[in-house]
Amino acid sequence: MQKIKMKTALVELDGDEMTRVLWPVIKEKLILPFIELKTEYYDLGIRNRDHTDDQVTVDAANAIKKYGVGVKNATITPNRERVEEYGLKKQWKSPNGTIRAMLDGTVFRKPIIVKNIKPFVKSWKKPISIGRHAYGDVYRNAEIKTQKGGKAEIVFTDKLGNETRQTIMEFSGPGIIQGMHNTEASIASFAKACFEYSLEEKIDCWFATKDTVSKIYDQTFKTIFEDIYKTEYKEKFSAAGISFFYTLIDDLVARIMKTEGGILWACKNYDGDVMSDMVASAFGSLAMMSSVLVSPHGYFEYEAAHGTVQRHYYKHLKGEKTSTNAVALIFAWTGALKKRGELDGLPLLSGFSDRLEKLVIETIEDGYMTGDLAAICEPGAKKVLDSIEFLDALAKRLEHGYSE
Ligand code: NAP
Ligand code: MG
Repeated sequence: MQKIKMKTALVELDGDEMTRVLWPVIKEKLILPFIELKTEYYDLGIRNRDHTDDQVTVDAANAIKKYGVGVKNATITPNRERVEEYGLKKQWKSPNGTIRAMLDGTVFRKPIIVKNIKPFVKSWKKPISIGRHAYGDVYRNAEIKTQKGGKAEIVFTDKLGNETRQTIMEFSGPGIIQGMHNTEASIASFAKACFEYSLEEKIDCWFATKDTVSKIYDQTFKTIFEDIYKTEYKEKFSAAGISFFYTLIDDLVARIMKTEGGILWACKNYDGDVMSDMVASAFGSLAMMSSVLVSPHGYFEYEAAHGTVQRHYYKHLKGEKTSTNAVALIFAWTGALKKRGELDGLPLLSGFSDRLEKLVIETIEDGYMTGDLAAICEPGAKKVLDSIEFLDALAKRLEHGYSE
């Protein structure tokens, strides 16, 4: 069989722990036998980030700017325990934060639905996608902890040296202060990315903030969304039979529980961080959530929504079998290859990715799955597979031409 050829390289960002164990196995069993894979490899494993003083993360983000498409493995965001565990020079920043700050954009997360796993929320019948603004707010903040009393102010100095200031608090004792920002350009591109996604998927777009409390910050998000919708998308939306709905965040979380899904939920950065894990878990498993960063400059970075699955990795190190679900990692690869195929005019590459995705779903629906899904599937699993057995089952089906 002829392998599928690629034109342009994918940027490959490797990561840590259990997902680092699975990464080369996914390539070896599911991709390399079928594709003449071209990648530019960056090792974002914690040891190499430490060794390069995190330059490798910056280099990888620049490579995504050069080639347009990246696929990223899960990485450790070091905290104090990790600094000790790996003997790190310091608590390096989250690689995802660094990359998102460089590429800007919106992260779209979508649950991968299989018919034998029912969402925990009974009314949810269709996937709920999350569009997470990937720039600013608390992720690019400045924080101060004060030991003594004093006055905290927020000061803005424009280019001519004019100051605008406001008192935040007159402290009489120790306290904490936080400053954060966003830019109108980034919010506008977040809004556009969400409206485009809704149009492409033909689903309604819901957006919420807390503009009643945050009368300038959150209200700016609301106004920008509404203005862009009115001037650029209203007609396109009604032609597509979909709508845009704005409400307060607490109202939205209550309402979404009663919908049947099939919605894009546009979230501010922090809301998206929290809500995407809730939505993923409610649809079954963190390992069944795909994720892509869409930059307004036309760059795409595909990843799994979950982390490095630390607990499974420690079992693996002890020589025990693990049943780690590789589905979201596989969908990161298929998403990236599909986009590469689209951009480079290679329908065979996109077609292969579609076929692999379909086959993953069929395999689970036929009853062959890892432990996380077996615990919740109905009817029960035919066979609970370990991490590698699941990949072998997929490889076998690929070779035998399932889903063709
Ligand atoms: P995690 O890797 O998301 O895993 C949390 C738990 O969710 C696991 O212990 C496991 O539950 C379940 N789970 C997640 N993915 C699974 C999979 N593929 N198959 C089966 N079960 C899965 O979060 P964590 O272990 O708390 O965090 C580990 C590291 O990941 C941290 O250092 C964090 O910084 C990093 N992280 C990275 C990213 C990223 O790079 N995008 C995102 C989040 C976290 P059971 O233990 O019950 O089986
Ligand atoms: Mg999160």
